[in-house]
This record gives sequence, structure tokens and C-alpha cells, in this order.
Amino acid sequence: MRLSKLFFETLRDFPSDAEVISHKLLVRAGYIRKLTNGIYNYLPLMWRVLKKVENIVREEMDKAGAQEILMPFLQPKELWEQSGRWEVYGKELMRLKDRHNKEMCLGPTHEEIVTAIAREGIRSYKQLPVNLYQIQSKFRDEIRPRFGLLRGREFIMKDAYSFDRDEEGMQKSYKIMADAYTKFFKRCGLETKPVQSDSGAIGGNLSHEYMVITQTDSGEDDVFYCDGCDYAANSNHAVSVLNEAKTTGDWTKAEKVSTPHAKTIAELADLLKIEPSLICKCLVYIADKDPVLVLIRGDKTVEETKLMNALNAKEIRTASDAEIEELMANHGFNAVPGFIGPKGFDDVRIIADNTVKDLKNFVVAINENDVHAVGVNFGTDVKMPEHFADLRIAEAGEKCPQCGQPLKVTRGIEVGNIFQLGTKYSKAMNATYTDENGNEVPFVMGCYGIGISRTAAAAVERHHDEYGIKWPMAIAPYHVIVIPVNVQDELQMKVAEDIYNKLQAEGIEVLIDDREDRAGVKFKDADLIGIPLRITAGKTVNEGLVEYKVRETGEVVKVSPEEAVKMAVETVKAALSV
Ligand code: ATP
Ligand code: MG
Repeated sequence: MRLSKLFFETLRDFPSDAEVISHKLLVRAGYIRKLTNGIYNYLPLMWRVLKKVENIVREEMDKAGAQEILMPFLQPKELWEQSGRWEVYGKELMRLKDRHNKEMCLGPTHEEIVTAIAREGIRSYKQLPVNLYQIQSKFRDEIRPRFGLLRGREFIMKDAYSFDRDEEGMQKSYKIMADAYTKFFKRCGLETKPVQSDSGAIGGNLSHEYMVITQTDSGEDDVFYCDGCDYAANSNHAVSVLNEAKTTGDWTKAEKVSTPHAKTIAELADLLKIEPSLICKCLVYIADKDPVLVLIRGDKTVEETKLMNALNAKEIRTASDAEIEELMANHGFNAVPGFIGPKGFDDVRIIADNTVKDLKNFVVAINENDVHAVGVNFGTDVKMPEHFADLRIAEAGEKCPQCGQPLKVTRGIEVGNIFQLGTKYSKAMNATYTDENGNEVPFVMGCYGIGISRTAAAAVERHHDEYGIKWPMAIAPYHVIVIPVNVQDELQMKVAEDIYNKLQAEGIEVLIDDREDRAGVKFKDADLIGIPLRITAGKTVNEGLVEYKVRETGEVVKVSPEEAVKMAVETVKAALSV
């Protein structure tokens, strides 16, 4: 491809709305242009990258025995009603009506559609297992689309769905997909860590996210991991063994103490000169419209996904001060929110984190301003909560639940997610096969997603420097860029064209920068767009030499044009061999 003809434009500056490097670089280097919030045009360079990512996925899925299909983007409400998700899927589901007033949605994921396909198309145990996948645009009306392709509203996903006879079969399918995922990401130049995670709106029992580890904000998830063993989990799922803490107070009886202005745990602990771990914190959440009191040890923090799951709620949020005051007023209390406690809320749902179980002679608020009770015990002074669960965020330095070593935390970008769905969809949608004995048995399912566009952006997050992108060879839009420094110079042009033609003849994907621009501009653009190899034909062509440069390492050598072609062909082929 001739750069003079390529539809692309590099910008002098980063876009003002971009916060993370992949967004900045992909816009500035001419790969993407924003259409509207969270929705992007993929320009020629980007589309080449995305097609490469897609093709690697396709190869790995085909090798793993999955079969490619394409399901519609627009989906009828009825199937979502059958699965029960029309009600539970929140505002991310883009709902619309057709001209006959029929309700539809834009596919955020395809469990319903594929389960309906299996319900019709798989009759006997003899047809199983089956794994179907597609590569397609998805739409989710994300509350906060940001970071360019990392979190769009429209994005490209590969989604696969496995159907098995039983749990054992599903486990096998899951393992095959897990292995294919590791290989796929590696081929894209990304080291990933599979981590246990919450299953979210997709559901099922067990799921693993594939995380690209980043220490920057572009990694939106906190990942806990252990160096002593293979334990790794998203913070929404991570569990840890608590470190020692003081959980029994020295008070000998329950009594009221004056705690003026001590509305926060830190203020209270300071005032009473105690460890925060002796305080029973009481928080108010609104879960699907109803208030819930949440108790947790004063030094710990609530993990909201865990809380939502424990409450079996569709949506939760912290209550506003006004809502807390109203709740207290309805129960005859006249205190400010910082002094709410569990006593006297017998008709309100109360849930407690497991850390609260160990508290003895502890401190708790009692719905009176500037007062707390100390030396309190469950059973005698406050009713023991009926519902305990793990509701807390694990902390770095707490012990690994598998081996006891201290846990570490890092940030990660979720590029893929695999789920053991079990019979969640097949039972709800009555999707069954006939077994050897003539019984109708629901399929045991798994589902497996990869964000194609997010993977490409994550590759930029991992591979760049201050000058631009450094694409891994397998997903680079072109392998080599040939630069004649001065297009008016006949010999430079001839050598460059010759290298360009020879590389193309070898099946290498080449750009030639035949623009009339200054050398500096060309070099800058080549670095910015991130082509892995650069061959420059400048003044030294008179001595029979060109410059061969590796973008990743910055290594430069002067060699003959023939040698440069040979080196490039070998490097590209070695990098692409699987
Ligand atoms: P997240 O937690 O980041 O919102 P998710 O867990 O809801 O993602 P899944 O339903 O697991 O996403 O979708 C499978 C894959 O699709 C994800 O692992 C991710 O790579 C990609 N993906 C999901 N949402 C987006 C998005 N808004 N923009 C780009 N890619 C996305
Ligand atoms: Mg996910």
C-alpha cells in the first residue's frame, strides 16, 4: 500500500477527551474516529488490525472444534422473556420497537438466541457436544463509555457457546476453551492471567476473566493474586483470610458513651482510642427500591457486587442522607445518618458481613446523635443478624485462601471471560435433548467471550512508547514500512520500490511512504502508527546500504537492500509462526 493513497491522517495532538494511552494513540495515529459517545469508526489501519485479531480468534476457535455462525444483531423480546432477562438486564440493554410496535433489543450478548438455535437444532445426545461461535458487533448502553475502544457502547466481540450432555462434558468444553484463550492472547502479543470472577448478568456458577495486567487506570478491575500458588481473582470475587485484629473490647458492660461529632469510623476510633476493628459499622443501601442495613467490621469495606449477589438484587446503591433520615424518622429516631445503628429496625432487612460474627464487647451506633454504645454483644444487647455472607473487599497483605501467603493486588483489563452456565438458560428456555433412555434432558452450557476491539486496544496499552504504538507483529496493520527519504531522488526511489516489490512478492504486508514530506515527518508517522519494521532508503543508497530498524527495540543496522529484505522476511515469518 502506498501511503500517499492510504486513507489516514495523523494528528499533531492527542484528542482532548482521551484519558488513556490506547485511546490517545489510536485517534492521533489515524486508526479510529469518534462518531458519538462510545461509538467509533474503524478506519483502514484499524480495520486491518481488527481483522487480524478476528482471524487469530477464528483459527483458535476452529482448532478447538467450535463452528462459526452469525446470529442477528436485533433480537426479539420474547426470547429474553423466556430466559427471564428482559426484566433483570438493566439499562445497558438497548431496547427499541419496530414499526409494528414489537419490542426488540440490540444484542449485548447472545445466550437467548443460541439457546433457541440449540433447542430447535439439537435433538439427540448423539449430536453432542456442540460449540457455536460468532464474531459480531455488540451493543451495550454503558453508563460510562470511556477509554476509546476499551469501553465502547458498540464494540466487536467473539462469543462462543458450548452445549454438553452433562456437567462432566461441560467441564471438558470449558477446559478446551480456556486453553484456546491463553493461546489466542499469546498470539496477539498479550500475556493474560485467568482470574476467578463474578458472573454478572450472564450468570452461572463459575467464571474466569482473562486479564491483561496494567498498573494504570486503563485497567478498570482490581485483581488479587498470590505468588505462592495460582490463586487469582477479580476484587468482586476475591476472598482472603483475615489478618489478626482486635475484635473483643475491654469494656465489662454495655453502656452509652458520648461521642460528639464522631460520624465516621476514623473519628470514632480516634475519640474512643480504639482499633476500628472493634466497631460494627452500619451502612444503608437501597436494593431494588427497599432499604437494607449492612453491618461490617469498622476496618473493612463492602464489595458491592458481593452484596448485590447476597441480596439477590438486580440493582443496589448506597442510600442518600435524606433517605437514611427518612428511614430513621419512620422508626421513631431523630438522628443524622452518621449515627444510624441496627437496633430498632426489626422490619428492615439486615445483612452482615462474616467479619461481624467475631465481634464481642464492641461499639455500635444507636440512632442517637453524638452517642454510641460500647461493650455491646449480639444476643444480649442487639439482635443477632439472621443473614451473614462474605460482603467485604479483600485487601492486599491479607492471606491467600488457598495457601496462606500474602495476597497482592494489581490492575487489569478484562479482555476475555468464560462462564460455566450450567442449565441456567436451557432450563429457563426448555432447551433439551433426548438421552439414551428417551428422557428429555436440559443442555449443560458454557459461554465464552472475547472483546476483539478491546483486545486490540489492550495491545496498544501494553506495547507503546513516547513516540507511538509498537504493534506485535501478528496484529500489526502492516509488517514493514519502506521509507524513501527523498522521493525526488531517483536512486532512493528505485531502491525503495524494489524492496517494496520484493517484500510483497514474499507475502509480506508492506507500506511505502511515497509522500513528498520531509524525512522527519515520515519517521515520526512511522513510529506513531507503530509498524514493527522500517527500512529506509536515504543517502547511503549510493554506498549500497539501507537502514533496517526494529520498532520494538529501536535497534538499527545498515545493510544492503537484499539483506534488508531477507532479514524482514525471516523476522516476519518467525514472528507469525504458531
Ligand atoms: P466489563 O466488566 O468490562 O463491563 P463484562 O464482564 O460486562 O465487561 P462480558 O459480558 O464478559 O463483559 O463480555 C465479554 C468480553 O467483551 C469482555 O471480556 C470484554 O473483552 C468485552 N467487552 C465487554 N464490554 C465491553 C465494552 N463496553 N467495550 C469493549 N469491549 C467490551
Ligand atoms: Mg466479563
